[in-house]
Order: sequence, then C-alpha cells, then structure tokens
Amino acid sequence: AVTLGVMGGGQLGRMFVHAAQALGYRTAVLDPDATSPAGLVSHAHVHTAYLDADGLARLADAVDAITTEFENVPAEALRRLAERRPVAPGGDAVAVCQDRAAEKAHFTASGVPCAPYALIETEAQLAAVPDALLPGILKTARLGYDGKGQVRVADRAALAAAWAELGRVPCVLEQRLALAAEVSVIVARGADGTVVHFPPQGNLHRDGILAVTTVPAPDVSPAQAAEATACAGRIAASLGYVGVLCVEFFVLADGALVANEMAPRPHNSGHYSIDACDASQFELQVRAMAGLPLVAPRLHSPCVMLNLLGDLWFDAVGRERTPDWAGVLALPGAHLHLYGKAEARRGRKMGHLTITAASAEAARATALQAAAQLGISAF
Ligand code: ATP
Ligand code: MG
Ligand code: MG
Repeated sequence: AVTLGVMGGGQLGRMFVHAAQALGYRTAVLDPDATSPAGLVSHAHVHTAYLDADGLARLADAVDAITTEFENVPAEALRRLAERRPVAPGGDAVAVCQDRAAEKAHFTASGVPCAPYALIETEAQLAAVPDALLPGILKTARLGYDGKGQVRVADRAALAAAWAELGRVPCVLEQRLALAAEVSVIVARGADGTVVHFPPQGNLHRDGILAVTTVPAPDVSPAQAAEATACAGRIAASLGYVGVLCVEFFVLADGALVANEMAPRPHNSGHYSIDACDASQFELQVRAMAGLPLVAPRLHSPCVMLNLLGDLWFDAVGRERTPDWAGVLALPGAHLHLYGKAEARRGRKMGHLTITAASAEAARATALQAAAQLGISAF
C-alpha cells in the first residue's frame, strides 16, 4: 500500500489524513505530541522533535511521499527528508514562506505588490525607518501566527519600545493600511506545473485570528478575483512550488490588491472547501503530492465558515462547558468539524462550522443564527 507522510499533527494534518485515507492511502504523521489531532487518526505516527535524525529516518522509511501541515516545520527537516523521498512543498519554498522579509521580496519579484515595509534587524535600521511607515505594524520576521508576534505602533517611540518588547529579533515594519476587505486565494500546483485554484475567500479577522470566511467573497469584483488568482498562481510558479499554497490579500479602499502573507499548506480560510466544493483543499494536497491529476475544484454551494475557538468552551464566569452542538446541527446545511483537541483554551482553534446553502443570503442568515446560538459575535 502507498503511504503518505505529513510533518505536523495539528488539525490541518488531521484533515489531510482524512482526505488521504478516503483515497485509499495509508498515512504517517510526525509530531512531537503523542496526542496530536492528526496522530490520533493516522495509521502510523512518529513522536519525535522535527529535526530528530531517528524520527526523520523512521518517517522516511514508512512513507512514499511527504508533505507538511505545520508552517514552522524546520525547512532543514524537509530538505533532509527530500534526500530519501519526494517532499512537496520543498524545504526551500517553505523557507521563503517562513520569513516575512523573504516572502515580501518574493512577492515583489513575482510582480505582486505588498504593503510598504522596512526590515529592522539593527538599531541603525530602526533609526532609519521612513516616517511614511507610521502608524505601522511591527511583525517578527519569523514564527508569528494568529496575530502573535505583532505590535501596532503609532510613532517612533512606540516602535522602539515594541522592538524591545519583541526581543530585538529581526522584524518587518509595515505601514498600517486602511483595509476595505481581506481575501485569500488557495492554489494547488502539480510537479508538472499544472495550477488549479479555489475562488477567493472573504475573511474576517478578530484580534488577529481568522473568525469568519465567506465564499463567494462579498465585496470583491470579478476583475479583483481574477487578479488575486493570477497573482497567487504567479507566486506559486516562481517558487517552483508543488502542493497547496494560500496567499492572503488586502483589498484597499481604491480597489487595489496587496499581498499580505502566504502559507505553504492548506489554510484555515479553505476549510469550507470540504463541504462546499467538489474537491477539498486537502484532497488537492493529496493529489499534488501523489502525482495524481489536479482538476479545478468547483464551489457547489455558497457558504460561511465560522471558526470555533476555545472561548466557546467557557461560560460567562469561566466555567468549562460543552457548546450546544445539537442545537447547531438542527440548522440546515450545518457541517460541524471538531479537531479532537484534549483541552480547550481561549483563542485556540478547536473546530469549525461550515454552513452551506442554496444562496449566499441563506448561508449568511443561517450562519448568523448559528453564531448567535454559540455566542460568537455577529458579522
Ligand atoms: P495568520 O494566522 O494569518 O498567519 P499572522 O499572525 O501571520 O496571521 P498577519 O496575517 O500578518 O498575521 O496579520 C493578521 C491580521 O492583522 C491581518 O489579517 C489583518 O487583519 C491585520 N493586518 C496585518 N497587517 C496589516 C497592515 N499592514 N495593515 C492593516 N492591517 C493589517
Ligand atoms: Mg501568518
Ligand atoms: Mg495572516
């Protein structure tokens, strides 16, 4: 039997495992955590650190091809695995996505605009930051996610304090843009250069964390959708990328699109594709890494996806509770996905709920009802 391996055992790995198994593959997961969401449902799992030589050898022995679900899996681990087995995406492409400076340079080289920014690695670079970048957002170049490792800064004094607070690690300072909307585009690229894509997703973030995804994206014209899709395809092609890639964009008041960041894997904003498309982002990840044909996925139902954060597992006075799933599942078109995480914590992604319907209006109305039932703020 053919076995597909994945570096990382989080919810993305779990949904990858589901898709791989549906297509008849065996799976193996490498994750340091013995109770990782993907490890729990995989045929095989290796519990070692990502760079552990023995763990990497055991994973390579067990599988025919390898992918990743964890944005910060050491690129070096992917490079070492690539000496033994096909790895998609490759370590070099993942390394670009892991460093905001390299990522922005790649956007620019691909002819895709991004927010005005400056790299800050030294006191001299801090002092030389142009005034035009303020007010801005200071972001660590590496390892940030869900808005962690970011500080909004109004002026130079705040910038200097923020850089100190972040430990004076390499950072980028971005101009704070007035966003009319946020969208993301997921593409899948095969080893033969074939690129297919999902329609742009409309994303609402709260406290730096994705809260709601709506597809088709409201407030995006067909021309903007085509441009975002073309940009994402160019970014993937110029990286020589194989696998699923997500590019996040800002839509500005004048309609211009700028790339924010990219993720070298399936993306939270694409989870809706499991229930609303005829092929999910995870199936396309399986197809890309296994060398199977990539067929353009079709959105068959308008939908709204709500992220289910750990906050929902606590009542007003902080007591743990189980959200009313039966109430939510009584709604038409409700698709509940829980990731099997042992412990709920505030801000932790515990699951998602996708509402599909015959029209965008109906999906939104039902999603608002679900949000009200669960205690998620209206959108
Ligand atoms: P993710 O979990 O998506 O990886 P992240 O921690 O890498 O998040 P970003 O995507 O860089 O963070 O930023 C999080 C959110 O903050 C964005 O989706 C957007 O809402 C807001 N934001 C980030 N950069 C800017 C900017 N330059 N101007 C205005 N808003 C911004
Ligand atoms: Mg990010
Ligand atoms: Mg982001």
